[in-house]
Amino acid sequence: MDARKFGGAAATKLSDRPLWQAMKRGFLGRCPHCGQGRLFATFIRTAESCNVCGEEFHHHRADDLPAYLVMVIVGHVIVGAFMGIEAATTLSTWQHLAIWVPITIVSALALLQPTKGAVVGLQWALRMHGFGGPAEELETHPEL
Ligand SMILES: [Zn+2]
Repeated sequence: MDARKFGGAAATKLSDRPLWQAMKRGFLGRCPHCGQGRLFATFIRTAESCNVCGEEFHHHRADDLPAYLVMVIVGHVIVGAFMGIEAATTLSTWQHLAIWVPITIVSALALLQPTKGAVVGLQWALRMHGFGGPAEELETHPEL
């Protein structure tokens, strides 16, 4: 995708930021800018800034998006696998619960940090929420 088509980068003479590379670096828990520093301070809390290049992460606005994406991905994979196994075997309900509940919990936890990293990388590449784009202003009512 060429971001210049939308006018922002061309108008402000800003350099392009490769979207997929930034999302991949974030997915791997690395700084979307340099690919070296750590993106996360704890499990899903981002570091204040990159410890290698100094890129600031504290203003990201991933909010609930990573959790929604994880639910969509894990839900589709687990439900599909459950329905396939359920149709092909004669396991009891308790056996299904013993299989699918742990798999669901582990896969959701395993995907949460990489997904959040990819979302932060996307925001960095698109210069959203303080990642080098124009300053955001609060929208107020026109009569104020
Ligand atoms: Zn960095």
